[in-house]
Amino acid sequence: MRGPGFGMKIGYGWDSHEFKRGIPLKIGGVDIPHAKGLGGHSDGDVLLHAITDALLGAIAAPDIGTLFSPSDQRWKGADSKVFLSEALRRVKAAGYRIVNVDSTLILDAPKIGPHATVIRERISQLTAVAANCIGIKAKTPEGMGTENAAIAHAVVLLEDAPRGIRRKARKKPRS
Ligand code: MG
Repeated sequence: MRGPGFGMKIGYGWDSHEFKRGIPLKIGGVDIPHAKGLGGHSDGDVLLHAITDALLGAIAAPDIGTLFSPSDQRWKGADSKVFLSEALRRVKAAGYRIVNVDSTLILDAPKIGPHATVIRERISQLTAVAANCIGIKAKTPEGMGTENAAIAHAVVLLEDAPRGIRRKARKKPRS
């Protein structure tokens, strides 16, 4: 008998990166014109990192920092879609698929509103989840004193994937 929540998993991820002058700003896999970008070992894509950790958390896999150590030269300047792909591969291999993703960005500037549709479409492309199942919200850090950082929170809901999908994902691709 199926009890409540059978075959479903929730995942939560959080990340922050500091703004630095003169580097490109990438959020949700989208290049956003701005005087400052997000520093970090990889491309600093705070939103993809939070979504990646939410996916990994949902299946109780090691977190992004454990799988892709900041001290590993391989990930220096890495495109964060590589991290997301590995989380997606693990979700498939565990026998799950994504129902929906929701997220909130907290940053002082730039305004995310004008870019939200493009970010949603990009994440839809990267995850193969319909754009109307991807929430992109943004707030300014009122009273938090985090004006020089971008913060991202993300939650994902997973459900049992139909049989057949999971078998292919079990093989680990060459890295
Ligand atoms: Mg990060």
